[in-house]
Amino acid sequence: MPRIRRWLYILLICSLLLSAVSCEAPGAPSSLMPEETAATGAAMSVEGTLQLHFFDVGQGDAALIQFPDGRNALIDAGPNASADELLQYLRELGVSRIDYLIASHPHEDHIGGMDEVVNALAIGEIYMPRLASDLTPTTKAYERLLTAIQNKGLTIKRCRPLTDIIREEGTSLQVLSSDEAVHQDLNNSSAVVKLTFGNCRVLFTGDIEAEAETALLEANRDVAADLLKVGHHGSSTSTSEAFLQAVSPRFAVISCGRDNSYGHPNAQTLNRLKNAGAAVSRTDEEGTVRFTCNGTSFSQAA
Ligand SMILES: [Zn+2]
Repeated sequence: MPRIRRWLYILLICSLLLSAVSCEAPGAPSSLMPEETAATGAAMSVEGTLQLHFFDVGQGDAALIQFPDGRNALIDAGPNASADELLQYLRELGVSRIDYLIASHPHEDHIGGMDEVVNALAIGEIYMPRLASDLTPTTKAYERLLTAIQNKGLTIKRCRPLTDIIREEGTSLQVLSSDEAVHQDLNNSSAVVKLTFGNCRVLFTGDIEAEAETALLEANRDVAADLLKVGHHGSSTSTSEAFLQAVSPRFAVISCGRDNSYGHPNAQTLNRLKNAGAAVSRTDEEGTVRFTCNGTSFSQAA
């Protein structure tokens, strides 16, 4: 029966080949896998270097993001007293246009210099947080800013939870703030914005305190970041243990004035940051703090 045996042999070979083909079916994606991985990788891979500047504006906040394609985002503009200095910084950097201007919240130490920025530079989009109606400020600083915006024919965009200011391959700038209805004061109403550039993540928290931090955690926002702009100038009421654990930053920047009367930053807050393993930079000690990110890792610039 050699013929039968030969046929059996041929059948065996065929079945082996078939099983090899069927085994390859899941493997077929394996030939697609590199593309899929590349696509996923592409979402994370970016070209060029991003620059971050946390300006020394005294007691206040002003942070500039310079994207490699030349776009600029300015989050807060410090108090009015340092507006000229801020504009000087921006001029030295060659910044003549702010593509995305974000006011974290309308307190003077964040928007006092913003009217001058609006008057002096070309502005793309302006974002402000939505506020509970009884929190709308009546301050001169806010009035000046609204007038500057109106005079330029600009329209304010309100930061709703999960608003995408930028959403592009590998790069995003997203509002994480929880809904304004839960906040009873301006600090906690601050727009919280997360920047993602490749694998580099930065969280800008305005002046939020523990209340808004808890609301973000309860809303399951992805607050994890490599670099944290510490909330409310390092005040004792911000940077709660649970929030810090969720953010898990390697770098932390505190923007505050030299010998400020508020005692910012608070010693316990500094301890919490230290214990969390974050390297802290302070504008009151170092002046303007700069970082660069190539999409993979951060470097602190001199
Ligand atoms: Zn402040």
